[in-house]
Amino acid sequence: MQNIATYDFTGKKAIVRVDFNVPLNENFEITDDTRIRAALPTLKKVLAGGGSLIIMSHLGRPKKVDPKFSLKHILAHVSECLGVPVQFAEDCQKAQEQAAALKPGEVLLLENLRFYAEEEGKPRGLAEDATDEEKKAAKAAVKESQKEFVKTLASYADCYINDAFGTAHRAHGSTALIAKYFPNDKMFGYLMEGEIKAIDNVLKNAQRPFTAIIGGSKVSSKLAVLENMLDKVDNLIIGGGMGYTFIKAQGGQIGDSLHEDDLMPNALEILAKAKEKGVNIYLSIQTLIADAFSADANTNIVPSNQIPAGWEGVDAGPDSLARWKDVILNSKTILWNGPVGVFEIDKFAQGTLSIAKDLAEATEKGAYTLVGGGDSVAAVTRMGFADKVSYVSTGGGAMLEALEGKVLPGIAAIQE
Ligand code: AMP
Repeated sequence: MQNIATYDFTGKKAIVRVDFNVPLNENFEITDDTRIRAALPTLKKVLAGGGSLIIMSHLGRPKKVDPKFSLKHILAHVSECLGVPVQFAEDCQKAQEQAAALKPGEVLLLENLRFYAEEEGKPRGLAEDATDEEKKAAKAAVKESQKEFVKTLASYADCYINDAFGTAHRAHGSTALIAKYFPNDKMFGYLMEGEIKAIDNVLKNAQRPFTAIIGGSKVSSKLAVLENMLDKVDNLIIGGGMGYTFIKAQGGQIGDSLHEDDLMPNALEILAKAKEKGVNIYLSIQTLIADAFSADANTNIVPSNQIPAGWEGVDAGPDSLARWKDVILNSKTILWNGPVGVFEIDKFAQGTLSIAKDLAEATEKGAYTLVGGGDSVAAVTRMGFADKVSYVSTGGGAMLEALEGKVLPGIAAIQE
């Protein structure tokens, strides 16, 4: 594996997998270009080093060629961000001539990789009543044609850079399989390097005390993260909707709060394991309750295990927040995944805002703070704290899988 900082790009063609899966409005205008800007340091490095660029990405989840999901919509903006004209290849599998003609400093953007089933390697268009046998045959066929698909992409370039952390948890053609065609010329882009370092800072090299704050809606979607954290952290703060499953499992009254009865045994098991491993668990002790899931609901503050029927917990109460703040400010490493309340409604966002403030304060005091995973990232960004923590991850699903302790195929393919 090579290092992007030291690799000699002079006269080389670099094929770069980026995550340009940006949100578009109904006029196909970009509403948030964060993902494009995140890849610029890598793309500019290649151009400044005397190389040319073949950029590849997916956009949305098309199941066939579909103009709605064309990367042409973002061509002008990519060009503007890079400060050079960007050519477009209408078909990512038929770009041989355009790629071959690229001169140093020139850029080619390939059409959406997911216009081809081979990118994901999953069969498409199977009849609903297909037999298992037919499904198996279709899968084998797409896996076979995937080899040619990947080989064609690889043939365009001299080196491969993966800078798409958002898809690093997928073993797709452009994110993982292509790497084997560049045994001596594959590397991470700067964004990927940053994400990997952030993951290592919490999972491998954490300074103690290490606290993880895990919130969000459901235990079921974070069970593997919680279990992995038990082997890593000193303190585990469990907030948000998922906390009520733990409180109910311990015999608390949670009224109409969100919970998963079938996961109560798992919740108890996590509490028991934490005790065994000496991990301190901090559930919410006090809750803001509402009589409806709306901004004009009546609210009250009660102990988290005494929520009356007809009411539901929508945010952490001041006593919970004070206790959590104490834990956070006494930590040297803090990982935050998932909001501790229904932060989309301003009235129920105080708890999540308070955690964001605590993280900013801890960072200022010298702690390493990582915010990873979809909604907590949206929360710190919306609340204006994104530049006050050590690192904000760009990949929701990928970060979640990394926190579960899984090896991400997009990372492994470069490191192998
Ligand atoms: P997740 O995608 O699992 O990280 O969950 C994020 C979602 O959890 C957000 O949409 C929050 O509104 C929601 N959430 C957080 N706390 C609660 C709660 N007490 N009740 C219901 N939903 C919640």
